[in-house]
Parts: sequence; C-alpha cells; structure tokens
Amino acid sequence: MQKIARLPDAVANRISAGEVVQRPSSVVKELVENAIDAGATRIVVAVKDAGKELVQVLDNGCGMGADDAHLCVERFATSKITSADDLERLDTLGFRGEALASIASVAHFELKTRRIDDEAGLLLRFEGGDLQEERPCPAEQGTSVSVRNLFYNVPARRKFLKTNATEFKHIYESVKAQVLAYPEIQWKMVSDDEQLFDFRSSDMHERLDFFYGEGFSESLVELREENDFLTLFGYVAKPGMLKRQKNDQLFYINRRVIQNRMLQQALQQAYGELLVERQVPFALLFLGLDTEKVDVNVHPAKLEVKFDDDRSVRNMFYPLLKRAVRLQDFSPDVGIGE
Ligand code: ADP
Ligand code: MG
Repeated sequence: MQKIARLPDAVANRISAGEVVQRPSSVVKELVENAIDAGATRIVVAVKDAGKELVQVLDNGCGMGADDAHLCVERFATSKITSADDLERLDTLGFRGEALASIASVAHFELKTRRIDDEAGLLLRFEGGDLQEERPCPAEQGTSVSVRNLFYNVPARRKFLKTNATEFKHIYESVKAQVLAYPEIQWKMVSDDEQLFDFRSSDMHERLDFFYGEGFSESLVELREENDFLTLFGYVAKPGMLKRQKNDQLFYINRRVIQNRMLQQALQQAYGELLVERQVPFALLFLGLDTEKVDVNVHPAKLEVKFDDDRSVRNMFYPLLKRAVRLQDFSPDVGIGE
C-alpha cells in the first residue's frame, strides 16, 4: 500500500536547493540580487577558495528587523510579492522566497543585519537550516550574509564542484554582469583577501575598460532607442572595430540578466554582412518592456524569460538595433573585415 507523507521543510529545502544553488556562483548571484532589491548603494562581495569556503555579500540596504531576519530563511517567505497578481508585474529581482532557505539548508549561514533606526544589529547563525545562535551585534545599516562550507552536508554535490579556477570564473562573470548593470551602485570585490576592484564612481567607461581592457569602451557605440513597445539602451561594437573586439554578449530585460537565443540571433542579423567569419559582436544591451509582457518565473535560477509574444519582441528589437548599428560611420581606414 502506498502512503503519502508531506516532506518536512528541511527536506523540501534541500531538494529545491538542488535547483537554486548549483554552485558557489549561484549563491553569489542570489545574495547580490537581494542586496540590490534592498536598495543598496554599496555592495561588497568577498569570496574565499572560489566560494567553496566562503561567500560573503555585504550591503548598505534597508536591513531587516528581528522577525524578518528569522523568516528570511523560511521557504517561500518573501517581502517582494504578496499575491499571484504581483507575479505579472515584478519590479524586483527576487520574488520566489526560496533562495535563502535553499542556501541555508546546505551551508553554514550567518546573517548580520540592522535597519537604520535599530539600536544594534542582530546576528543569526544557522547550520543546515537550523538556528544555532542569535545575539545582538555591532553593525552598520544594511545586511551581511556569510555562507561557509557550501554543500558540507551534501557530499555528492561538493564532490562535483569544479576547480577553483572554473568556479571562480562563474562567480566573476556573474558579479561582472551586475556591476555593468548597476552603475549607480558602488561595487567592491575581494577574493582570498585580494581586492579585485572597488568602483566608487558610476562611470560606465571606467567599468567597461576595467573588465575588457584599456580603451575598450572607445570601440563601442552607446545606443538609446525606443518605440511604443520597448526601450533599448546599451553598448555594442562599432562595426569598424569588430576585429579588435572581445566576444561577450550580455542581455538584460528590465535589468535582469537573461540568456535568450532569440535576442542573440537578432543581434547577429542586425550586423548582417558586417560580420566576417564567426565574429560575435560585443553587446551589453538593456531592454526595457512592460513587466506584464514578460514572464521571469520559468526556472528557479531566473535566467530564462518567456515573452508574451516572442515574434513581436524580435520584430521590435531588431529594427532598433539595426538602426543603431547602421548609423555608425565607417572611417575608410578601418574597413569592414580588413
Ligand atoms: P526573495 O528574494 O525571492 O524574496 P530570498 O530567499 O532571497 O527570497 O529572501 C527572502 C527575503 O529576505 C526577501 O524577500 C527580503 O525581505 C529578505 N532579504 C534577503 N536578503 C536581504 C538583504 N540583503 N537586505 C534586506 N532584506 C533581505
Ligand atoms: Mg532573493
């Protein structure tokens, strides 16, 4: 005879952790998204041993009161939506309320948080999702989350982590994508006690040159286009400079990093015959569209989106991009494909 039993939360959390937390970079991404949603203007990301030993994200955002600090590691507990209707118009990066529950269930998790009017900060420490310690602590306004020994209680997962070089690359790429999307935020990153960057100004050229090489931003054209359906802002390769380009394409919908083949293909087509061989033009593109026209609730990692109408997004995106690319002057000495 079969008998169905509801799984205890601890088990459920660990199962969903399998989808939300694939590797250290997933932890970084979720914590950074929370910091952004908390309205932070300064975010510090620190990792040790490519995140296997420690991922720490510190922000100066709104912080949490004691009740929220306890609730935040509960499954499906969120301050970002309250009804199913809210899913239609998301203006936050998070909304599923399961990231911290998942992360806390497979790591040693420490939270320090303080709201602006609180007299002191509050520290909570969990192991495998269970509260171990709670006490007041000195803290600035904001939140600091430290995740140690990821997958300590899931040996199979721990074993499948890749080399530090590979895991670190995933982390770095994920942080880079956010640093480029939020120029108004100051970002600092530290790895194994070495400072990698500390951006204090909102200058995009400084950030682009840092990540892609000195003078790189000069090989880009900044574009700003819009029609009734979407806005498009960003940077793409100047057609005449393609040869000197780094291959990298970052797409965002409403400032959320996404992966989308349709947009990649439309970009490739907008350049058309300007591309030689297998050139992939650099692009950092921010699409803005009505939140009701896009569904981000496709997968727990929130990297995929579904458009209400794929074709019309493509049909709107393509001409804007094409116009921006074609409007570029070609100086004769940097001929196409030379
Ligand atoms: P979600 O982001 O989908 O709501 P999370 O599990 O990532 O789910 O976070 C749960 C809740 O904890 C958030 O809704 C938010 O209220 C709170 N929270 C998490 N991180 C922070 C932070 N850095 N600052 C302030 N509040 C936070
Ligand atoms: Mg979140």
